[in-house]
Amino acid sequence: MTLQILLKQAGSTWLLVFLLAACAGPAPAANAPAPAAARTASPAAAQSTPAPALAPASAGDALAACQVPAALTPPVTEGPYFKANSPLRSSLLQTGLGGMSLTLTGYVLNASCQPVANALLDFWQADSQGVYDNSGYTLRGHQFTDAGGRFQLLTVVPGLYPGRTEHIHVKVQAPNGPVLTTQLFFPGVQNNQADGIYNPALLITVEKAGAAAMQASFTFIIQ
Ligand code: FE
Repeated sequence: MTLQILLKQAGSTWLLVFLLAACAGPAPAANAPAPAAARTASPAAAQSTPAPALAPASAGDALAACQVPAALTPPVTEGPYFKANSPLRSSLLQTGLGGMSLTLTGYVLNASCQPVANALLDFWQADSQGVYDNSGYTLRGHQFTDAGGRFQLLTVVPGLYPGRTEHIHVKVQAPNGPVLTTQLFFPGVQNNQADGIYNPALLITVEKAGAAAMQASFTFIIQ
């Protein structure tokens, strides 16, 4: 039986297969990040990495301001509340969170100021009341930088909890690179100086802040 006849007989099946393939989009493997020990987030979720929105021009200024050799972003303690396998999502917002919304954009660069594409960023934080979700994944999520090394996180400004100033935890990792575990801090918070983990090198740059929303940026420099 020739291929032509086979295709004719199975015409409807081939059309269905074609349509399913078209709906599924590109093969997941093409977008899948290189495996690495600390890429603990769900592999299934990582296969559908959405393209992050472009960072605003102000974050581009940060890229232009990078000077070689750029100082590596300092690590700080992971703390007790990290959970592996966070969902793949750049927005941690959900109904009922309360607090001030925060849009954090920026870059992941290497010490040569080159953007790191497909870098993993795994964020976790307390809610606006200073409480972590340790049973579920509220305010936890991972994402990957785009081809230009850009990321965008939509979340809320975390609240205070005993002994700590406002902070967002994050693990950052270039494909096949070492994991940077660190925290981001907020400028102008009175508790910063009293927090032994606080490091001014980890302050986000607030670009716009209103009564209910804040826009800020940060550039990670990693190995
Ligand atoms: Fe914490």
